[in-house]
Amino acid sequence: MSAQSRSAPAARADDGSRAPLRAAGAPVAKVIPLTRTRAVRGTFDYRLPRSGAESDDDPRIGIGSILRVPFGGRSAFGVVIDLAGHSELPPDRLAEPDAVLGSSIPAELVSLAAWMATEYCSTPARALGLVLPPGTLEGVRARRALVAELTEPGAGALTDAAARLTDGQRGLLERLQASGPRVAAELGTAALRRLESRGLVRLSHRERPRRPQDHAVGSVSAVSPALTGDQHAALQPILRALEGAERPPETFLLQGVTGSGKTEVYLQAVAATLAAGRSAIVLVPEIALTPQVLGRFQARFGDVVAVLHSALSVGERHDEWQRLRRGQARVCVGPRSAVFAPVVDLGLVIVDEEHESSYKHEGDPRYDARHVARERARAAGAVLVAGSATPRPESVVTGRRLRLPERIDGGAMPAVEVLDMRGRHHPLHPETRLALADLRRAGGKAIVMLNRRGWSNFLCCRSCGRVWVCPNCEVALVLHRGRTARSASGPARADPEGAAGLSGLIACHHCGHREPVPSRCGSCGSVSVARHGAGTERIEHELRDALGGDDFPIFRLDADSSGLEQRAATLQRFEQARSGALVGTQMVAKGHDFPDVALGVVLDADQTLRFPDFRAEERTFALVTQLAGRAGRGGDGGRVLVQTLAPDARPLEFARHHDSDGFLADELRRRRALGYPPFASLIRVVCSAEEEPLARRTAQAIADGLEAFDGAVLGPAPLFRLRGRARSQLVIKAADRAGAIAAVGRAVDRVGPGAARVGASVSVDVDPQ
Ligand code: ADP
Ligand code: ZN
Ligand code: ZN
Repeated sequence: MSAQSRSAPAARADDGSRAPLRAAGAPVAKVIPLTRTRAVRGTFDYRLPRSGAESDDDPRIGIGSILRVPFGGRSAFGVVIDLAGHSELPPDRLAEPDAVLGSSIPAELVSLAAWMATEYCSTPARALGLVLPPGTLEGVRARRALVAELTEPGAGALTDAAARLTDGQRGLLERLQASGPRVAAELGTAALRRLESRGLVRLSHRERPRRPQDHAVGSVSAVSPALTGDQHAALQPILRALEGAERPPETFLLQGVTGSGKTEVYLQAVAATLAAGRSAIVLVPEIALTPQVLGRFQARFGDVVAVLHSALSVGERHDEWQRLRRGQARVCVGPRSAVFAPVVDLGLVIVDEEHESSYKHEGDPRYDARHVARERARAAGAVLVAGSATPRPESVVTGRRLRLPERIDGGAMPAVEVLDMRGRHHPLHPETRLALADLRRAGGKAIVMLNRRGWSNFLCCRSCGRVWVCPNCEVALVLHRGRTARSASGPARADPEGAAGLSGLIACHHCGHREPVPSRCGSCGSVSVARHGAGTERIEHELRDALGGDDFPIFRLDADSSGLEQRAATLQRFEQARSGALVGTQMVAKGHDFPDVALGVVLDADQTLRFPDFRAEERTFALVTQLAGRAGRGGDGGRVLVQTLAPDARPLEFARHHDSDGFLADELRRRRALGYPPFASLIRVVCSAEEEPLARRTAQAIADGLEAFDGAVLGPAPLFRLRGRARSQLVIKAADRAGAIAAVGRAVDRVGPGAARVGASVSVDVDPQ
């Protein structure tokens, strides 16, 4: 964007209606058409009609305006990223836009999109797609309704005995007086029209924002408690930074065990931001699983809180976006995409549970909301606060650390016991079974976590050793016992173990491929099929057999147990139950606050360690520590049992002692020695094609085409087939992040189009997870 570009007065953030074109002086708009193709590059010039007299009602064209433009023989949406006095093309070669939409993107977000396009080796059009007002492409508009309100003569008529009113008319006016402006249709439009003609009622078309349903849960309090000494000490530096004492504003890392009062610190920092007339963005991992956090913000701040997430209807998202854009709402709570909330005068960004992998977006651009939040805060002069009980090593080196070392309730951290599973066949250690049986007798709740969905890990022929794998992906198919792989976690099903020993489906967790459980081996004809490993479904079944009953219900929570709503409902039922167990994938360890979970169990804790990934240790530590954070809240410390085949693993040792600092120091040492983030940046380039040689050749061409930068290129290395495509990957380890990103971007631009013509595709992932 050129420095001399002028931004027109803010366009009316409105309803998407088309309005006459007006340019604010500049005759040429530089426009990015919103197309998905990589081949379309750069901006396109459009001629703007000279503006007439300025008026505040008409949308003008400025940076961030959304246009409909003629493009390649059809009409496309485009975003204005700059205005210019003239074009290099002769004016008669330039087309005029067809229309300008009523809503526009704040200039700040247009710049952020440009930054993202570069930072993630994507295209400006795709990055702009992330910051568009919701519903733009679908033509969603503001909802309007005819609204009636009482006029002064109308109010007078109610007290004037001489006023000629029927009983019905008097009743209508009284209702309007009591309620204030009302949607006309609710009271009867025809009758209101007659009153309007006598000047007693005013009828007008008004906007009626669609509001998402409130999440304020009954028990949350609207008043702020007096802070503890630790909370006070953590809040002070944040408040000073908000006052602008620090330039440029600082980024903070709030490190505090679960239940240590981090959310209360966020709430007070947001209150200070609002008092200064600025706005705040609060990022959370997933709204549906953590409604308590949203509920606390809504209870504390009311209507100035807007929420943006994918479970809302597009109309609700559109209207919440507009409330933020107009400054009617000044706090936005939401998952990673809320980092693009169009708030007015951003003063504070909070990233709750900053270790969560859900902050990484898997579409293109593959942005990381934590990294984007940092850039957005920097550009806006806003303060950033990231918080976690298990912060990432990356955040430790970039943020000023603030600490909340103790639980608010003064409760002890639970005792963490490591159980050695070597040589054992039953998925539950005897100690685990004993603890669960004790809990059932005493009454109480347990969370059992296992990072594997389905029934068993894989099927294997007992005679020839064949393993059933997905025909599209080179991974083992996972056994699911329910009628479908997506059955809800309902009441106990009868065990359908049939003659062949098994029934149900085997499913691929990558592409969704499913097939019936085989009754015999296709290679050798044997009918003896063994299942290996246990998944959440199997554990649910085991627990139900061993413990279940009306007084000890077993719940399951994983990606198979239906949609978000249903998962939220499962959590709620578990919360309301007097006792019982919740079985699930790592989802069960996310941000909820059950006061009475006495026992936490991690099955197969080293499963995450076996991933060939430098983050494996960090994940394992976080998983165990986060689960420990759920146990024993609100009273005695509770107990956590960790089953593992690697009882001496370093992350488990640190987790056993609740030693985050020790783990971080050790992990940073290891990462420095190996040249991993935060001491270098990683960029992953994955090339895929139907045939393996083409995928490999494409990756090699990109590797060969890389200009010099400070770092190393690893690969091409084969990856397992995914969704029917062979894959080959390059990993770039770079000390010079910007230089490496630029080099990769240029190499992909050169190689990509030719590769696409022969059926190979290239995707770039900066900071892969
Ligand atoms: P975290 O976000 O670290 O998990 P929370 O902010 O949710 O911790 O605090 C845990 C519990 O303690 C919540 O129920 C919260 O309402 C309560 N709480 C937080 N701060 C205080 C305080 N200063 N005084 C009393 N209760 C508090
Ligand atoms: Zn066989
Ligand atoms: Zn598959």
